[in-house]
Amino acid sequence: MEFAWNEADAAFRRELVEFLDRELVGWERSETGLGSAVHSDFSRGFVRRLAERGWLTPHWPEEYGGGGQGAWQHFVLGEEMWKRGEPRGPQYMNVNWVGPSVIKYGTQEQKRRILPPITRGEVFWCQGFSEPEAGTDLAALKTRAVRDGDGYVLTGQKIWTSYANEADHCFLLARTGSAADGRDGISVFLLPLRTPGVEVRRISGFVGDHSFNEVFLTEARVGADCLLGEENKGWEIVRRTLAYERVGAPRYARAALVLDRMAERCRADGLLSDSGVRERFGQARALCEAARVLVYRVIDERAKAKEPSALANQARAAMVQAERAVGDLALDALGGEALVEGALGDAQFRNSLGAGIAAGSYEVQLNLISRLILKLPKE
Ligand SMILES: Cc1cc2nc3c(=O)[nH]c(=O)nc-3n(C[C@H](O)[C@H](O)[C@H](O)COP(=O)(O)OP(=O)(O)OC[C@H]3O[C@@H](n4cnc5c(N)ncnc54)[C@H](O)[C@@H]3O)c2cc1C
Repeated sequence: MEFAWNEADAAFRRELVEFLDRELVGWERSETGLGSAVHSDFSRGFVRRLAERGWLTPHWPEEYGGGGQGAWQHFVLGEEMWKRGEPRGPQYMNVNWVGPSVIKYGTQEQKRRILPPITRGEVFWCQGFSEPEAGTDLAALKTRAVRDGDGYVLTGQKIWTSYANEADHCFLLARTGSAADGRDGISVFLLPLRTPGVEVRRISGFVGDHSFNEVFLTEARVGADCLLGEENKGWEIVRRTLAYERVGAPRYARAALVLDRMAERCRADGLLSDSGVRERFGQARALCEAARVLVYRVIDERAKAKEPSALANQARAAMVQAERAVGDLALDALGGEALVEGALGDAQFRNSLGAGIAAGSYEVQLNLISRLILKLPKE
């Protein structure tokens, strides 16, 4: 078994790091403004330059504007981006799962219309899944899409929609069947957010300025060409295309970097002479490494074109543990300073709060691990 990176992937990472070191001067200062106009402007410019080099969608098939590269190169990109606070902004969603969903389930017309602006880095997409009464229990969603002539009329409310305030389109789930149909009555809509009847309202949140939004839909009319895949078959799309998204944000890479910086700082302050502090650093580092190895097992599955498995739940749970360990250590080691906006450890602490909730909560991952890996009975 070969554990090292092969020469091509290692060379790609070196070239990418040089490019990012040049391109991202000054970027870290805006990191806490996730979802703000300044942040989004930066992302739009940066992602275009990434696209010009073929590094935005390297893993997509060439016929759809990708580079035809493997899963590992895509993942090297993700690690280096996440380490730097994800300068692609919401466009990481475009390339990780919005585009791939359209490639797999879209019509020829949808592919022609939707994919080129993504590969050029010109559009922001957001994810309209959660509702006030449907988070973990997503199948309880109530937003309705009623067929009317040659289109659909959408009515309902979404919540916690990151980046909706800056986005052009929303990958939206709505109920086309009856409530009793549960998962079998849900469809995916590719909704232009400028559609009349769509209103985005910002919600202040702990993750950064304007990061969260509510999206209200009041009889918003869209054409039938906004439906992705078959009516009432949206759950299958979400299940398949989001399976790998559980590890799509390699959060351990950022946590490990923050840990290194905190260690430098604590060494300078003489705190590392305390064996208790050193032990906490060691534990946090071990959790970051465990998360990395578990995520790599998921990427290996993908590289071998295997069906997604419960390894993704395990890897995601491990990433949450790593993020929380580093966030908690920041608070304990740096004290009140870690709560000052923009300070070392602040973004980490706030990110670690959200990490266990977004993209499937930590507790739900544990439930799935108990059932799918440990084979324990469902309670
Ligand atoms: C940073 C961040 C970004 C987000 N971005 C988006 C976005 O862009 N688009 C979007 O649609 N949504 C987004 N969300 C929302 C997120 O998907 C939901 O918050 C999440 O699905 C949980 O739903 P909820 O908030 O309704 O909590 P609930 O589902 O009410 O859960 C509350 C708590 O109960 C626990 N719980 C629930 N059911 C069980 C169970 N069966 N067993 C054990 N414990 C359980 C959960 O783990 C959680 O701790 C985001 C959330 C965060 C934090």
